[in-house]
Amino acid sequence: MNTQRLTAAQTEQAAEILRRGGLLGIPTETVYGLGANGLNSEAVAHIFEAKGRPQDNPLILHIPTADWLERYCADIPAAAYALAERFWPGPMTMILKRKPIVPDAVTAGLDTVGMRCPAHPVCRAIIAAADLPVAAPSGNTSGRPSPTNMADMLEDMDGKIDGIVDGGPCAVGVESTIIDLTEQPPRLLRPGGITLEELEEVLGEVAVDPAVTRLMGAGEQPKAPGMKYRHYAPKAPVTVVRGAPADAARYIRRHLTDGEGVICFNEFVPLFEGHPVEPIGPKDDVAEQARRVFDALRYFDGTDVTHIWAQCPDPAGIGLAVSNRLNKAAGFHIVDAT
Ligand code: AMP
Ligand code: MG
Repeated sequence: MNTQRLTAAQTEQAAEILRRGGLLGIPTETVYGLGANGLNSEAVAHIFEAKGRPQDNPLILHIPTADWLERYCADIPAAAYALAERFWPGPMTMILKRKPIVPDAVTAGLDTVGMRCPAHPVCRAIIAAADLPVAAPSGNTSGRPSPTNMADMLEDMDGKIDGIVDGGPCAVGVESTIIDLTEQPPRLLRPGGITLEELEEVLGEVAVDPAVTRLMGAGEQPKAPGMKYRHYAPKAPVTVVRGAPADAARYIRRHLTDGEGVICFNEFVPLFEGHPVEPIGPKDDVAEQARRVFDALRYFDGTDVTHIWAQCPDPAGIGLAVSNRLNKAAGFHIVDAT
């Protein structure tokens, strides 16, 4: 299949791909997504094929405005509207009870559905022009780091999808926050662009799913099926080094051997001269680290490093999402520098 490259202005051509049941690479503020008409089971099935995605891992339904929630969701609690009012359009996905109109292909047979209203202007224009709910996961091959620009998505999807729209690099860089509103208290299933602290301002108490901070044991079922897979993973094994940034950098310097790579804060790059190094941003700029983290992980797949050492921010604010992605890339192989 020839994958059509579309510019941000070719909204109508992009919408047409969705309307005719095709697969479209779509820029969003979080990461690039692999979209299809969310009401067309056959089109949605092609998303799973293109990604090699396990069948039990549901997709997110992307809508243009919060008033589309009633079309696809039942028993919507007041909290959903409060969250939508505060954070939509934006990087937050709510898990709600589904209506029967939502195909099983989208929800992987669950009686709930993930709903998001994205903020990226190009993404919004495409959804509005298509006048459809767009089902989409991240645009990577399953198991690889999510793509945060068009070139990264083409690396995985060129020839497998009908088209892709260039919306520039993603402003957030990690996927949406997933909050499950079918439980009381609401449960954070995946940290992302909207922080836990921000959710708590609206919801009060929020439970954090154990899959966010630790490896799920055999037989444990995380509530977001996506959280059980080793994810965001480069080819080489990753070790995350926790601790004060200078301590963690020194720890890595001491343990680093030939043929190993480093993901570090910008300040520490000179320590690792002679090794492949990917800086993820200044130590105090977590938003930049979020934008860079997937690119850094992806970079090492083009090298022959045997092992990757990674510095990691504190789990506050969007640092919770960055550390979650790094820890998952490491299969929760984490050491303390101190
Ligand atoms: P992705 O955007 O590629 O990370 O894929 C969507 C994510 O949303 C996956 O981690 C799914 O497990 C999660 N998700 C989608 N729908 C649901 C749902 N109904 N319940 C729990 N998690 C969901
Ligand atoms: Mg994904």
